[in-house]
Amino acid sequence: MDLLKEIGNAKSVAIAGHIRPDGDCISSTLAVRAYLKNARPDMKVTVFTESNPPTIFSYLEGYDEMNLTYSPKEKYDLFIALDVSSLDRLGESMYFFENADKTICVDHHETNPGFADVNEIRPEACSTCEVLFDTFEKEHMNIAVAECLFSGIVHDSGVFQYSNMSRHSFNIVGELVEYGFDGPKIISETFYEKTYVQNQIMGRALLESILFMDGKCIVSMVDRKMMEFYNVLPKHLDGIVNQLKNTRGVEVAIFMYELGTQRYKVSMRSGGKVNVATVAIMFGGGGHERAAGVEMNGTYYDVINALSREIEKQMQ
Ligand code: 5GP
Ligand code: MN
Repeated sequence: MDLLKEIGNAKSVAIAGHIRPDGDCISSTLAVRAYLKNARPDMKVTVFTESNPPTIFSYLEGYDEMNLTYSPKEKYDLFIALDVSSLDRLGESMYFFENADKTICVDHHETNPGFADVNEIRPEACSTCEVLFDTFEKEHMNIAVAECLFSGIVHDSGVFQYSNMSRHSFNIVGELVEYGFDGPKIISETFYEKTYVQNQIMGRALLESILFMDGKCIVSMVDRKMMEFYNVLPKHLDGIVNQLKNTRGVEVAIFMYELGTQRYKVSMRSGGKVNVATVAIMFGGGGHERAAGVEMNGTYYDVINALSREIEKQMQ
């Protein structure tokens, strides 16, 4: 996709990612903002996101200027959805999507149905930031844009670890580091570093995890009482599912936290034998082959039983 051509003469653009934004989401929205500041300096560019976005990304240009209130409710010429796998994940920015003259979606989720007027969805890309890099013209790139794209790739690839890193992804990382930002600092401070209470709650989740299916599956859960006790929010639980997945012999890791009474947010990670995106889709969620999520109703054991039935079918 030729992004600037699709943007055409639009004078205002609303940019948004998905609810409960992660690294690729925040980074891709701020990357497009920084890029358009260069390529289209006269354009009105607004990035919308939920209140309390992860503060670990506050070093990115434009972080402090994001609109966290979704107001005023104005009409924009253009709406760009980034890293949003389906319309229900737009949250409150739906208003701006519905009222824009034209909508664009850039994403890398294989489950994305292509809900915008113009869609650039590349499931083989490691991140939305990778897809964006290929749509950006070099002359409008700068260190701020590069720092955003690098951060998104780092987070969606688990620091270049997952199989979604292709030769092309590594080449992009190579080009990005030439811009001269502090890559190692971004990796250690935004990906690996946790607060003391985050480590404590991760410790609890690991301690209380259960291995099943002959050690091929692991599951753990954090309930609302525990989150209140440690005074943590959902965004502070990032990384727990990956740590569960690091258990030797485990093919599928399931981590969930309580959203409300008999309602859970589920995260799944797979080593490759099981496509967790297809499992998530069955219950209304989505994601990627090796990383997917869904919200489910029922008791903790209802949710485990429902998921493990589908996982077991694929394991055979
Ligand atoms: P995570 O487990 O880190 O929240 O998400 C892993 C992947 O699954 C991400 O690509 C994310 O976009 C997707 N995902 C997580 N939760 C949901 C959900 O409730 N619905 C859909 N459609 N995708 C989700
Ligand atoms: Mn992503």
